Amino acid sequence: MQLLYGFLIAVVISLLAYRAHSLNKSGAFAAAVMGTIIFGMGGWQWAILLITFFISSSALSRAFKDRKQKLNEKFSKGHARDAGQVFGNGGVATLFVLVHALYPESNLSWVGFAASLAAVNADTWGTELGVLNPTPPRIVTDLRKRVEKGTSGGVSLFGTFASFLGSALIALLAVLLSPTHSLNTGHFLLITASGLAGSLFDSYLGATVQAMYFCPAHNKETEKHPLHTCGTQTIHIRGWRWLDNDRVNFACALFGVLVALTIVYV
Ligand SMILES: [Zn+2]
Repeated sequence: MQLLYGFLIAVVISLLAYRAHSLNKSGAFAAAVMGTIIFGMGGWQWAILLITFFISSSALSRAFKDRKQKLNEKFSKGHARDAGQVFGNGGVATLFVLVHALYPESNLSWVGFAASLAAVNADTWGTELGVLNPTPPRIVTDLRKRVEKGTSGGVSLFGTFASFLGSALIALLAVLLSPTHSLNTGHFLLITASGLAGSLFDSYLGATVQAMYFCPAHNKETEKHPLHTCGTQTIHIRGWRWLDNDRVNFACALFGVLVALTIVYV
């Protein structure tokens, strides 16, 4: 029965997101599947964390649109998220709901779930708000070196603070809504720090091994492949070809979880 309710709510939210152009067709389908699993096998607390991520990140990618317009093409996709982006951001969280279904007594699945969403929320808030910073960011692998705004791997205090807030919001909800009522301030700090660590790992991958391309028409580096916004075929210049932005997001979530669970065990 709960699965049926989960399915209905997930379908309604995905359709609304599709109509609002926050998701494209494949993204809406993926979100409906993911939402059904998370609402249906987790429950309302799990759903609220997912929805908080989803709504805040969609709202932030829309906000300040004019100021971001010039930078848009640096990002690999428009703001209508596709299935790859939905799974990249929510895939790890979904795995933890499945773990919860197998081991309902343990609160580790809730901590892992929250840490994964804290990481992708931190990453999204950092990216979407970080570009509003008037000064250009520095590359995470060499903080003395400034790079163009929107460059993968670029970090700033401003963006990192935005990431911190994005992570802390999920951590706060995770403590308040904990299904086992067993989370405390220590968990809040743990999840916030793990989320922030995940988003820094995301920047690190962006600066090192993430696949990067070059648009000869724009004479510019881009994450877009095979075609740039202008329709020109992009050329691979560095990074692992298989490691696209969606997989980097997945790794960001996974890293957040690893940090959280490692600290819990130690
Ligand atoms: Zn171009």
